[in-house]
Amino acid sequence: MVEQVDVSARAAAIEYAIRDVVVPAIELENQGHEIIRLNIGDPLAYQGLPTPKHMISAYKKALDAQENGYAPSYGLPSLRRAIASAQVGNGWPCSEEDVYVTHGVTEALQVIFAAFLEIGDKVLAPGPHYPPYMAYPQMYGASTVEYRLDPDDGWRIDLDDIRSKMDDSVKLLVLINPNNPTGNVATSSEIDALIEIAQNFPKCTIISDEIYDGLDFTGNIVSVASRSKQVPVITLNGVSKVYFAPGWRIGYMAWHDPQRRLSAVRDGVERLLRSRLCASTPAQHGFLAGLNDGTGWLEGHRSVIRERLDYSLQRIAGIDGLECQSPGGAFYLFVRISDPILAKDDKKFVLDLLHKKHVLVVHGSGFSPEFGNGHFRMVCLPEIETLAESFDRMESFITESK
Ligand code: PLP
Repeated sequence: MVEQVDVSARAAAIEYAIRDVVVPAIELENQGHEIIRLNIGDPLAYQGLPTPKHMISAYKKALDAQENGYAPSYGLPSLRRAIASAQVGNGWPCSEEDVYVTHGVTEALQVIFAAFLEIGDKVLAPGPHYPPYMAYPQMYGASTVEYRLDPDDGWRIDLDDIRSKMDDSVKLLVLINPNNPTGNVATSSEIDALIEIAQNFPKCTIISDEIYDGLDFTGNIVSVASRSKQVPVITLNGVSKVYFAPGWRIGYMAWHDPQRRLSAVRDGVERLLRSRLCASTPAQHGFLAGLNDGTGWLEGHRSVIRERLDYSLQRIAGIDGLECQSPGGAFYLFVRISDPILAKDDKKFVLDLLHKKHVLVVHGSGFSPEFGNGHFRMVCLPEIETLAESFDRMESFITESK
């Protein structure tokens, strides 16, 4: 018998619920079934939400001009400047040097975790949250602790729960605003309270993932960095959601460090960035056009999303066995399975729905074992007809399962 090579415990522990559920869906597709996929937050997978043409032209122009070489490791200077000026517009003094361009927010997270975390450290992240906040820290011997979002109050941040979980081992306090998967948008007073809590822990940096900022429907969104006078805040954003180009894999981190506490860790981040060379050069040109050429086009995309979200909320309200809070932003619904028997095992609910009705959503426990259980997340980006068909199938699945 051939002896198997062992996998590292690090890799074996990685889970990414959003794509893990695709494996059984592909099996069904291979058997000839058509699956309605409501699992991945990719606007390009659906009609009516294209990447803006001027960004595509800039990307193509860069290719034609042979801008195909390596870029500087921290990003094209023109792009870093444009990102910094967008942050200044958001209310804090960001300079070109404070910005690092990465292959998506996801790469920024890997770099940040690698530079900040030692064995025994903690990341305090919202429960529920986007899965990499749980998956990556353990690779460095650290762990993620979740703070509670209130399921009965629009998934508002439970500040008392944060207070009770803070200690000196919390190196990173994460806010995802608007939140994926719940859509909650934090108010400025909640953000101020969060900063005030972090202020008592000098080793704590706030990570503010603002990748859905342009898809805030409350009108209340504020940049976390703009509210902090002392606590370091690293803002994350990119082209994937608000610029409708997730396949370009371009994101950034912008460092606000008013008291210059992060010089050593920043040196570590720069070393890591140099060692992975650079982010895609032509894609950075595409993003630059997005930042420089105005966002008048965005209103159209926002209203398409709003319409699809509203339709989905209205359908869920009519299904006995499902409930949902209205989200403040982003394009997901985090749906509560209100039937107690079906809610017991949300992964089984999702897999049964997939096998019986060919609709793919993601189990809530994949976003938080503690706070997401008994829910599922669906992406509300498909056209109304596809959403209508999905809800018809969900409704009959629930009726037949009771
Ligand atoms: N952050 C959040 C909160 C997300 O929901 C996602 C994708 O769904 C990402 C980051 C991924 O960002 P990127 O495509 O820039 O890696």
